[in-house]
Amino acid sequence: MSEWDTQTDVLVIGAGGCGLVAALAAAEAGAAVIVVEKRAQPGGTLARDDGAVPAAGTRFQRAAGIDDDSVRFARDLAAYGGDHDMPALAHRLAAQSAALVEWLVDVVGARLTLLDEAPLGHSAPRLHAPPSCRGEDLRDDLVSALARRGVPIWLGWPVHGLIDGDDGMVGAVAEAGPSAIARVGAKKLVLASGGFAGAPQLVRRFCSDATTAADDSAPGSTGDALRWGAALGAAIANIGAYQRDPVTGALWRTQGGLMVDGDGRVLRRDGRAIANLFAGGGAAAGISGRHGSAGYLAGNGLLSALGLGWLAGRAAAREIAAAR
Ligand SMILES: Cc1cc2nc3c(=O)[nH]c(=O)nc-3n(C[C@H](O)[C@H](O)[C@H](O)COP(=O)(O)OP(=O)(O)OC[C@H]3O[C@@H](n4cnc5c(N)ncnc54)[C@H](O)[C@@H]3O)c2cc1C
Repeated sequence: MSEWDTQTDVLVIGAGGCGLVAALAAAEAGAAVIVVEKRAQPGGTLARDDGAVPAAGTRFQRAAGIDDDSVRFARDLAAYGGDHDMPALAHRLAAQSAALVEWLVDVVGARLTLLDEAPLGHSAPRLHAPPSCRGEDLRDDLVSALARRGVPIWLGWPVHGLIDGDDGMVGAVAEAGPSAIARVGAKKLVLASGGFAGAPQLVRRFCSDATTAADDSAPGSTGDALRWGAALGAAIANIGAYQRDPVTGALWRTQGGLMVDGDGRVLRRDGRAIANLFAGGGAAAGISGRHGSAGYLAGNGLLSALGLGWLAGRAAAREIAAAR
């Protein structure tokens, strides 16, 4: 009898923007993928944001006569983010941003258009958003694309822990319904379970100057990836940074998390990767400064979530193909 209830190539934990894009990228590159999500619906905080993805040097900008490139975008990110732990990742995400947005439109079928305005801190108009400016529409496009490719999203499946093998991570333990526990074996794991804005203890510890929102503004963001990664010896970075409501000042999203390389591989404190483990979006360290909310440039949340999800999904599939 197998030690696993089910097995796959890539197990994506969390069906927010990061997880949905990671799953699509891995599936497109030929991997078998399963997405597990603890809530009853996919999308994470995409349902609450405007779905605007910043990207520099896209064909949509060129068609609108906008002169922009990734060097300029990286400069804007650096000017806003200040001194922090992930400058190389900020450069990488800026450099990949145009290809990401064009892939979302051309391959995924996402309805994104270029917004005319350049929000504060962006030196050119570069936000690409659904015409409705509703993240829900982007979520729906990502979910439809996964359905077309036959990638399952198992809703109501909270992951409770990761399974470590002799040569790195090999799977996860999930709750597969009332009193049913499933062991899911996977060649690669992508932690896409968001940040820790919904974990008051972690917020007090790492973002003590943040004002917690009265409502549940970051559903599902209970810091699971941070806890699992830390227990495995992962480094954490930019852990005091967060995004807040520009009007009330209340905490929206944490922007610090697990230290990753440019393909989302989770790194130990000595800089070595934890084999088979990737992270992106709120689960990973962001690019919005080290502490507080001043380093958050509009769109940084989705740039990290979709950008790292894309890079991690592709890298995971590449590693699997190389091992065959
Ligand atoms: C009110 C608000 C406004 C925002 N506005 C903007 C904006 O204008 N521009 C921008 O770029 N960003 C914005 N953001 C931030 C942006 O939405 C996020 O940075 C991004 O969507 C995070 O994506 P994610 O996939 O990393 O995490 P999430 O969207 O949080 O998704 C994580 C998913 O993992 C699931 N999960 C967690 N733990 C487990 C587990 N143990 N097992 C299984 N599943 C699990 C969660 O339920 C959730 O569905 C906003 C956020 C909020 C809250």
